Amino acid sequence: MQGNSPSTVLVTGATGFIARHVIVQLLDAGFTVRGTVRSLRSEAALRADLETALQDRTCIQRFTLVEADLNRDKGWSEAVAGCRYVQHVASPVPMQAPKNPEEVIRPARDGTLRVLRAAAAAGVERFVYTSSVSAVVSGVPRNRVLTADDWSDAEASGVGPYERSKTLAERAAWTFVGSAEADVMQFAVVNPGAVIGPLIGTEASTSHELIRKLLAREVPGIPDLCVAVVDVRDVAAVHLAVMTAPEANGRRYLTAGPSCSLRDIAQVLAQHCAPRGIRIPVWPIPKWLIQLVAVFDKTAALALPDINNPFSLECSPAMQLLRRPWRPWPEVVRETADSLIAAGHAR
Ligand code: NDP
Repeated sequence: MQGNSPSTVLVTGATGFIARHVIVQLLDAGFTVRGTVRSLRSEAALRADLETALQDRTCIQRFTLVEADLNRDKGWSEAVAGCRYVQHVASPVPMQAPKNPEEVIRPARDGTLRVLRAAAAAGVERFVYTSSVSAVVSGVPRNRVLTADDWSDAEASGVGPYERSKTLAERAAWTFVGSAEADVMQFAVVNPGAVIGPLIGTEASTSHELIRKLLAREVPGIPDLCVAVVDVRDVAAVHLAVMTAPEANGRRYLTAGPSCSLRDIAQVLAQHCAPRGIRIPVWPIPKWLIQLVAVFDKTAALALPDINNPFSLECSPAMQLLRRPWRPWPEVVRETADSLIAAGHAR
């Protein structure tokens, strides 16, 4: 740690939906932030977006960017140099199932190991990894409350490439931090549920697709699916808390609200959007219809294991770190809709 600034944090994947909120909260809290991007061409637009969300716009002076790709070694040792903390948020979050699962798995798993190796070698004090509840609930029985001790079965049938990528990457990360190469670097994990909430800028993320498709009436109806919605600002706040709380070292924090059905979400949206003349599809789609569509459509096939298969999660440790409950999901759904509409995504 010698020579490291007490307050510099590396945030990987700075262009991303969650990373933007983590960066804004870090800058607002007084940290110096270095972000990684795959191309510095996005710098001017990203800085402008972040500035609009800061409590004090001059904080943007504490933000810099470097180039690094999870698929390459180049750039990572420069990225972590002098950082006290790393928030490793970057990972592919594909809109559709990739042709080759390795397109998602390789950057997630091997990229995480690249960042971990560089961070340990640079004497980073604590490394926070953004995993997912996908590394907890996929391919396993859901007949009890799942906790941070539970793990997805990446090899179970029906587990999609993204879920596999998050499970394999988190497993690899824990193996690395148990090895001599990790030295004394501390490690903690945030496992978010379905993250929605206001955009910083105008680009929506894959996790906005559900609400965007409902607003744009791109879905014929609602399957019997449950999601554990959580607001992006709460997720970012957990990332900050996990970074510095002494008790967070060596732990996973499931970060999600209670499971709610897509039908309930659609009803809340329908009520909220009716005065603006936006009609939301609320009628149910039976499982047999999705099974039929899934024969031709890989993305529909990925949803099948989750249909009529809700889960519940033990998330109180994350809430205890924040010392407050999550923002209520209906409020988060309404704010997400407003943000997507304002950004032009509801056409
Ligand atoms: P986004 O798609 O908005 O952000 C993903 C980020 O990862 C982007 O900055 C992207 O960069 C970067 N990235 C992707 N591939 C590479 C690569 N090969 N090298 C370097 N950077 C790369 O996703 P979210 O903000 O929603 O997700 C962020 C993290 O949170 C991910 O790890 C995701 O798995 C996790 N998560 C997200 C949830 C959600 O509901 N959104 C739920 C649970 C976990 P670029 O702009 O260049 O593409």
